[in-house]
Amino acid sequence: MSQPSDESARHQRRMARKKQVVDERIAAASEERGVLILMKGNGKGKSSSGFGTMARALGHGQRCGVIQFIKGRRETGEYRFFREHEQVDFHVMGHGFSWETRDLEQDRAAAGQAWQLAEQLLSDARYDFLLFDELSYMLKYGHLEAERVAYAIAERPRHQNVIVTGRTMARELQAIADTISVIHDEQHAFRLGVKAQAGIEY
Ligand code: ATP
Ligand code: MG
Repeated sequence: MSQPSDESARHQRRMARKKQVVDERIAAASEERGVLILMKGNGKGKSSSGFGTMARALGHGQRCGVIQFIKGRRETGEYRFFREHEQVDFHVMGHGFSWETRDLEQDRAAAGQAWQLAEQLLSDARYDFLLFDELSYMLKYGHLEAERVAYAIAERPRHQNVIVTGRTMARELQAIADTISVIHDEQHAFRLGVKAQAGIEY
């Protein structure tokens, strides 16, 4: 076995090399603009990542907008917490899509209304950060046209950051995204019989 001092010197050289690579990449990434982030996949953590990033934006005094594209989620911790914040405009689709509804026409009308609001936020340069939570279901079920959604997002003010969450993402959104993260479902407490908890699931 080598001496600790050898190991320490090797570690230092390795870290110096790593730092150099990272520094070069940081220097190369010089563009300043808003990004579109997609959080997708079957694991837990997409919406909570969106809200966590919004907390970050708020820490910098940024103006934020949220639209949740699933109805009846007003009892969630995120709604209770963020709707009080003066820099946040928080909208939950009042009616329309949920796992329980079967009324296609009503769901489509509600999705259309919610998207109109989204287009307003996307054309308003006062917003620095927008979260469209569970938007992907609207596209998956054909309630909204993917081209229209992608167009409005692509044409937003240059500084505006947008996060879209949902298990699957339309190709049209993936084509214009800057960052796409896939949350993989390796295990979930639900399958161990643990019920949904306040502060964890909602
Ligand atoms: P979270 O809001 O906790 O970040 P999410 O946005 O990634 O979760 P959704 O697909 O929106 O996940 O589902 C929301 C709810 O379903 C949450 O209560 C979450 O814990 C639960 N959930 C997410 N993934 C799974 C899974 N693989 N199995 C069972 N329940 C899940
Ligand atoms: Mg979610």
